[in-house]
Amino acid sequence: MSSSELPIEAQLAPPKSSQTASQQAEIEAIVATQRQYFNSGKTRPLAFRQGQLQALRSAIQRYESQIQSALKQDFGKSAFEAYATEIGFVLDELTHTLKHLPEWVEPEEVKTPLVHQPGSSQIVYEPFGVTLIIAPWNYPFQLLMDPLIGALAAGNCAVVKPSELTPATSRVMTELIKNTFDPHYVTSLEGGTEVSEVLLDQQFDYIFFTGSTRVGRIVMEKAAKHLTPVTLELGGKSPCIVDRGVPLEITARRIVWGKFLNAGQTCVAPDYILVPPEMKVDLIQEMARCLQDFYGTDPRQSPDYARIVNENHFDRLTSMIRPEQVALGGQHDRKERYIAPTILSPVDWDDPLMNEELFGPLLPVLTYRSLEEVIEKIQSRPRPLALYLFSENKAHQQMIVNRLSFGGGCINDTVIHLATPYLPFGGVGTSGMGSYHGRFSFETFSHRKALMQRQLKFDVPLRYPPYPGWKEKVVRRIMK
Ligand code: NAD
Repeated sequence: MSSSELPIEAQLAPPKSSQTASQQAEIEAIVATQRQYFNSGKTRPLAFRQGQLQALRSAIQRYESQIQSALKQDFGKSAFEAYATEIGFVLDELTHTLKHLPEWVEPEEVKTPLVHQPGSSQIVYEPFGVTLIIAPWNYPFQLLMDPLIGALAAGNCAVVKPSELTPATSRVMTELIKNTFDPHYVTSLEGGTEVSEVLLDQQFDYIFFTGSTRVGRIVMEKAAKHLTPVTLELGGKSPCIVDRGVPLEITARRIVWGKFLNAGQTCVAPDYILVPPEMKVDLIQEMARCLQDFYGTDPRQSPDYARIVNENHFDRLTSMIRPEQVALGGQHDRKERYIAPTILSPVDWDDPLMNEELFGPLLPVLTYRSLEEVIEKIQSRPRPLALYLFSENKAHQQMIVNRLSFGGGCINDTVIHLATPYLPFGGVGTSGMGSYHGRFSFETFSHRKALMQRQLKFDVPLRYPPYPGWKEKVVRRIMK
């Protein structure tokens, strides 16, 4: 075919460099061999899935110290946080999955309507096939491994792409995967947008993406081409509402912990606080006290306080710190990518701080007079990934839960709703679609195949033509 015979899109496309072309060929080959592997049926038996999940568990235990030092290298994550929010978190998910997988894989018996009797009905959980998992940098280990557990538990193959912004952790995970799994079954591909783009051009059977809302849109657009189903775990601004009458000491402690964990680089961190004006000063004072208890007088010296992932994010965050708004903190050091826990006040709804997800250790404190006002403001903005309400007033709790839409959240705590396998974790609206953790991960990565079983010994002729009037009468009596 001469170039003039190519479709117009191909003629207009810029020529591919040989490196991109070879990467594309490599990725196409990976997906093709994974599809063959999946079609062979090897990944389906329960014993195979259990064996692979056990192998993953042993590998994580073997690599634990390497994962921990990679996380330290990438953004100064403390050993405690590295275990509690990444390694231990994933091991816990593995334990839960291995324990329950035998019951999850069983077909689910459901009722059969009278008109279809005699018969029986089942929901059969079948793997989608070759899945793609794209992970962000902020919990680089957990956010890649947790969905992978779901994908493998459900009997799929997987191509995973860790984030390029945490190169040390990405390297260790890629090595761990390479030394644990047959590449026809699970492969990790490192790289940035260029690799993601080639990956998204392939036909996958399921795409699980965690990252920003902006890239989530791109992923969904690309998935639409092949009609590939997606889970999008995205971000947004998660409000934290403090009601009148709550004990401030414990409230402040729980907010400060959830906000400054991982230096605020947590998708479900409280993004901003809403507090009645008369409580603002006391709450800020209490938060200042907690920060000192947690990280000492100079958080820079604390081994438990993380760093910002890179200079771009450091510059983005520091450009938003206006000295006249700093109620606490504000110190920063680009060389170390250190930003002190920073509380900002006064802030109103039109402030630039309120435009986008902060994703760092900046905590604006806004004031409100009534919960009605809070509801109206939050309703007028994109639906948050998380929402937190500190309140002991049952009517107020009901009001917020019933009238505001958000991915998930807590009453009288922050962040921990994601640390349980019994709650689905995910967003709504621009904060995402779909959910995972525990059984929800298994269900996310499974197609629910509907199956009705009949017998062939006799037949009720009601549904077959011709349709004399008595048949319609009978149908009308049964179906109403
Ligand atoms: P990001 O969207 O920039 O990147 C996520 C992944 O997408 C990375 O692997 C990256 O290489 C890839 N990517 C980047 N550009 C791409 C493109 N044009 N096409 C295809 N792939 C592309 O997000 P991030 O900065 O790594 O993570 C921060 C965001 O993720 C925040 O918004 C945060 O709220 C969100 N997040 C959400 C959750 C959740 O569970 N809902 C968890 C963690 C982070």
